[in-house]
This record gives sequence, C-alpha cells and structure tokens, in this order.
Amino acid sequence: MTVRENLCPESKYSVKCPYSMTPVGICIHNTANDAPAKNEISYMLSNNNKVSFHYAVDDTEAVQGLPLNRNAWHAGDGGSGTGNRKYIAIEICYSKSGGARFEAAMKNAAELTARLLKDYGWDISHVKKHQDFSGKYCPHRILSDYGWDYFLNLVKTALAASEPAPAPPVVPELTDIGGHWAESEIRELAAMGVVHGTDGADGESLFLPERFVTRAETAVMIRRAIRYVTGK
Ligand SMILES: [Zn+2]
Repeated sequence: MTVRENLCPESKYSVKCPYSMTPVGICIHNTANDAPAKNEISYMLSNNNKVSFHYAVDDTEAVQGLPLNRNAWHAGDGGSGTGNRKYIAIEICYSKSGGARFEAAMKNAAELTARLLKDYGWDISHVKKHQDFSGKYCPHRILSDYGWDYFLNLVKTALAASEPAPAPPVVPELTDIGGHWAESEIRELAAMGVVHGTDGADGESLFLPERFVTRAETAVMIRRAIRYVTGK
C-alpha cells in the first residue's frame, strides 16, 4: 500500500482543522460511500463543511488530507470532544457496498493503523471506533459484517508482521577450550547465549575456563539462562 499526501491548504485550516493537536490515538470510520480514497480527500478539502479526517484508505492506497498535528471534525463529539480534538481519523472507503474491495481497503487501513501505533509508541488500546465517541453506528460495515474485534486482530497481525525477526545469536568461536573437560557444556551454553567469550590480545575469543567468575558475571549468566528457558 502506498501512502501519499494531498494536504489541506493553510487557508482552509480555520474550516477543516482549526486547532493544533497532540494526538492520543486513532479513530476508525467507514465512509458509507463507494468513492476511492483520493476522491474522498479531494471532496473533503473542496467543500466548506465542518467535516474532515486525516486519512482515507482504499484497496490500493492511503491518502492523507490533514497534518497529524491538527485536529479534524469526524467524531461527532462536539467542539471540545476528545475524538474531535485528540484522535487521528481514518476513513475506510467502499463501505457502502462492502465486499472484496472493502475488505482490501480494511486490510490497508489496519496496516496504516499499525504503522501509526508504532510511530507514536502506542498499543492496541489506542485504536477506537467512531461509535466510542458519539454512539454513531460507525464503522458500519466492520460492525455489521465482521465485528470490531476482527479489525483489531488485523491491526495486531500487521503489528506482528512489522516486527523484525530477532537476529540469531552470534556464537563466539572460543579458542582456548579445545580438549578441556567442560568443552561441550561451555560450547552448548555459548550457543544458547548464556556465556560469551572475552577478547584476547589478538582479537580471538577466549573463555578462560580456569578463571573465577564474579558475582556480576554469575547474575548475568543466570539471567540469560532464565531468558533462554522461559523466553522472558
Ligand atoms: Zn464515522
């Protein structure tokens, strides 16, 4: 999915986004229309209605119409409402007819939502629906055909997919334990990431098998072992 901008000119800020905003979450809508995202945004910017939103998303792209540090009139909770003053509004296109086109738009909106959550450091609890602010039955197509949890799960899946896979541990090639009675256990613990090598004078990785451990090293090794076993 591509994300592009068709931003509101400052001359229309007084109509579309009069207040500066530090967003605290994302509010999801359905357009109740069958127009693509670029048309939703250009129409929103062309009229003088006190109706506005930050993004429209369809099956191929997301178009941003307002800066994220300005408010939008979308949540139906009034001039000082939390939705209208603190939430980034995403309109999902093609909800009037629903079907495959809407479903693709919904998946793109989940991906955009996941990106925003990551950018702002928010968890899934920061994703709300229009209905949460004003009681309006919106996002209507999600609520009637899929259920709100279905959308939240799409966002969670998109979040998980964006996490980089953990890098495999670098196992040191310990050069001073060959033939030592504890060699195999030391190598196994090194492969688990519980023990590391220490750099020798020539840059080689040494284990120094006869050196005493400190209390700090003991604590670190126990911590790593617990993490290896429990994943935490
Ligand atoms: Zn709505």
